[in-house]
Amino acid sequence: MRLYNTLTRQKEEFVPREPGKVAMYICGPTVYNHIHIGNARTFLSFDVIRRYLRWSGYEVTYVQNVTDVDDKIINRAREENRTPAEVAAEYTEAFITAMHALGIEDPDIRPKATAEIPAMIEMIECLIENGHAYAVEGDVYFAVRSFEEYGKLSGRDIEQMQSGARVDIDPRKRDPLDFALWKAAKPGEPSWDSPWSQGRPGWHIECSAMSAKYLGNPFDIHAGGDDLVFPHHENEIAQSEACSHTTFANYWLHGGMLTIDREKMSKSEGNFLLLKDVLSHIRPQALRLLMLQTHYRSPFDYSAERLQEATAALERVEGSLRNQEWAIANAIVTADELLSNDQPNKVTDQNDMARALLDHIEKKHRQFKSSMDDDFNTAGAVAAIFELVTAANSSITETVQNSLLKDAAAIARQTIIELLGVLGVALEGDEGHREELPTELVDLAAEMAGYGGDKPAEAVGELLAARQKARERKDWACADALRDGLAELGFAIEDTAAGARVVRKG
Ligand code: AMP
Ligand code: ZN
Repeated sequence: MRLYNTLTRQKEEFVPREPGKVAMYICGPTVYNHIHIGNARTFLSFDVIRRYLRWSGYEVTYVQNVTDVDDKIINRAREENRTPAEVAAEYTEAFITAMHALGIEDPDIRPKATAEIPAMIEMIECLIENGHAYAVEGDVYFAVRSFEEYGKLSGRDIEQMQSGARVDIDPRKRDPLDFALWKAAKPGEPSWDSPWSQGRPGWHIECSAMSAKYLGNPFDIHAGGDDLVFPHHENEIAQSEACSHTTFANYWLHGGMLTIDREKMSKSEGNFLLLKDVLSHIRPQALRLLMLQTHYRSPFDYSAERLQEATAALERVEGSLRNQEWAIANAIVTADELLSNDQPNKVTDQNDMARALLDHIEKKHRQFKSSMDDDFNTAGAVAAIFELVTAANSSITETVQNSLLKDAAAIARQTIIELLGVLGVALEGDEGHREELPTELVDLAAEMAGYGGDKPAEAVGELLAARQKARERKDWACADALRDGLAELGFAIEDTAAGARVVRKG
């Protein structure tokens, strides 16, 4: 498995610190509002990566924090005349509900910043002792120039940052580049006791403290959106490595931004769509499928049209799976019957078809895996699944007319469901329920094709044969009547190169 590491700017072979286990941390939301679909994209990308790592045999420990103390939360509380804790509780719950709605699994550990203040204070004390931080009037700042490797993640040069930072000169900072680890609270703000002041932590320190506490350093994968590379993740590295003197995280994975009309979706720009609003009128699986068709590191431009297309694609897959299931359950002629019917050539053809389908399944399974092993290329993985759907679909006629293909078709169907499941795309009606053919088919075949038996699957065969004969004698009225009779029962006839077949409509 190879993955692109932002830190080294190249794809690397993935070697976990402990064989068979992956320790993974992803920056979570600041809970002052409902999340938008841009946030959701980042969380979805890493949900899928986590699922794939697990499917590949790793035991994954997945930690995601909740930032529940922050200026934005405090401002919102003030506007709404509530406490920051009330605002944070409301949006933490809304966040979890939205994650569940999109089929995103809960992290193994979901630490809240406000519950982890002691670990943060301990780390800040460590940094002061090591000479990497200093206290001024109740605030504590990280001395950026004391950490020689500052800039290694974002590839920024410290002198360039220096000129950018000049605009915002704070007289308490020794250097404009320094950032806050602890802030003395203003009246009415949430605050905690500390050696420096009654105050609250800066944003960056929480991820350093929580990931060290729950995963240890170095841990395997640190993830987040690529807007966090600088300064957030650069600062996390500086804090953690200046304190522990070991590598913080071995692999840095960053997701590309979701854009709308090529502009980054963000709350401050006002061009956002809330996840809960989008999910109120579309199927979450369609949004998942749509997002997965772009590589997680590339930008992804959202549009309602693209979502519509993904919905249609999802429905095609589901329709095909239903038809396959039906064909498998109702294969009408057994191999023995075929042989006794003096159709040895047909048996050979069917055997060849079964073998070809099995080969195809194997190939697409491999393509799925090699795509995902190549920096989690979900777009390639989805393409492999779609190609398998096409192949399985084109064998439906033969499957329903002959049981030799049944096993291969069943494996194809199961493989499609399994691989979509690895990507967290759970399909409707994939619980293996069997759809019974309606007995009205028997009556229809009795009436229109002189069928005397009582098996719906046989009746379908008779109806198709009768239609074929009608067409041969150019009796279009009779052929149409047969088609209409089937349509009334919810079936459509599809003419394919391999002959006609009956599929459930819609
Ligand atoms: P925030 O609540 O703004 O800290 O963002 C939470 C997560 O969402 C972070 O991992 C961000 O990188 C990510 N994020 C924010 N905006 C977008 C966007 N437009 N597209 C993708 N991810 C985003
Ligand atoms: Zn973070």
